[in-house]
Amino acid sequence: MVELDTQTLRQYDSDYVWHPFTQMSEWEGAENLVITRGEGSFVIDSDGNRYLDGVAAMWTNVHGHCRAEINDAIKAQVDRLEHSTLLGLGNDRAALLAKRLVEIAPPGLCKVFYSDNGSTAVEIGVKMAFQYQRQVGRGEKTKFICFDNSYHGDTVGAMSVGGIDIYHAVYSPLLFPTVKAPSPYCYRCSLSAERDSGSCGMLCLKELERLMALHAHELAGLVIEPNLQGAGGMIVQPPGFVKRVRELCDRFGVLMIADEVAVGFGRTGAMFACGKEGVTPDIMALSKGISGGYLPLAATLTTRKVYDAFLGAYGELKTFFHGHTFTGNPIACAAALASLDLFASDRLLESLPPKIAYLRDRLQGLLELPHVGDVRQEGMIGGIELVLDKPSRAPYPWEERVGVRVCLEARKHGLFLRPLGNTIVIFPPLSVSLAELGLLMDGVEASIGAVTA
Ligand SMILES: *Cc1c(COP(=O)(O)O)cnc(C)c1O
Repeated sequence: MVELDTQTLRQYDSDYVWHPFTQMSEWEGAENLVITRGEGSFVIDSDGNRYLDGVAAMWTNVHGHCRAEINDAIKAQVDRLEHSTLLGLGNDRAALLAKRLVEIAPPGLCKVFYSDNGSTAVEIGVKMAFQYQRQVGRGEKTKFICFDNSYHGDTVGAMSVGGIDIYHAVYSPLLFPTVKAPSPYCYRCSLSAERDSGSCGMLCLKELERLMALHAHELAGLVIEPNLQGAGGMIVQPPGFVKRVRELCDRFGVLMIADEVAVGFGRTGAMFACGKEGVTPDIMALSKGISGGYLPLAATLTTRKVYDAFLGAYGELKTFFHGHTFTGNPIACAAALASLDLFASDRLLESLPPKIAYLRDRLQGLLELPHVGDVRQEGMIGGIELVLDKPSRAPYPWEERVGVRVCLEARKHGLFLRPLGNTIVIFPPLSVSLAELGLLMDGVEASIGAVTA
């Protein structure tokens, strides 16, 4: 393989790559990093600089970069079978992984529908719920209820059930209408005592209940990011919230679609966020962490009840007419199987509590800083919200991009971070060591101090 120098790599990137969620007029010609290697909690650029990966390769990495066990599983699989198709054929890796996923999923989820990214995993859930209602004789239930400030992906269906205007407003003529419930912990309360007492979350539940009662006759499903709204700014739900949502879905005959794309696979400290709450959704979407951060793979899990509604004679057209070309790709499934093995052999979930406790302490400590307005945490996820003025909770004007500036500053401390607006995101690989987490939080603290001074 030809090793290209940084200048050439930057040039090619700038000339030919259109980056996601990026204003390319600023990107072109900037001194952008080009990553060429990964090692444990670090990514390494073309000049050999190491950065602690504070965003776990866009929230996907679980066991560290280039884990030998996953690398080996992939190499072995490549020599057996690279791809076939699940359209009309099975494959051994996909079958085995489906069984393993069902074993670790909240009880009752027993069927696995594969795809290859989080947006499609959610979109499949939405189509499944819609078709389910028709096929059980409730064809009038065609709508979805979802939450303000939620993020479920960027395809048209996933955008429709999302609630982040800054990303999706421009496409609004393309989207199907939904019923919008207030964000599980509405933004305006985010710095207030109401949050800590949980009363804000309870107010949101009251409003959710009112909306569900009003629209029950037409609601096919509810879509929620359980425990935490990720891209919406790491907004944490109060304990018991998801359980209450489950009860409301039962009461009003609405299928609960849990989008665990970000929180699944150990992020919350439990394998799945719903499991942590003792809840089984009707449909669960998984992606980001599923293959340990290696390959595009997603799965939409559902119950026997939903699955059975799709059974019938061929001519009844009850088939779920959906499928992607790379569905159940054996290499991706092999990586996912190796990742699940590592959860067990590393005793990964058991190793998390001290790291979660340490993160909590460090986040709390940041509240001392004059421009840290709020800190939020769910398991191994942290959000640090920067404000212009603490007493009045006045936000920094978004054009000032204080979040971006903090993340650029953090590179001087050997960190790679990516913010959500004015919220600094902490999302390292789950395998991060306590010492590395210390480095990460030291760098974050220093960078916030420098930029907001
Ligand atoms: C990232 C994300 C998605 C979309 O996943 P993609 O693989 O980017 O399509 C959906 N839902 C949640 C909660 C996410 O965090």
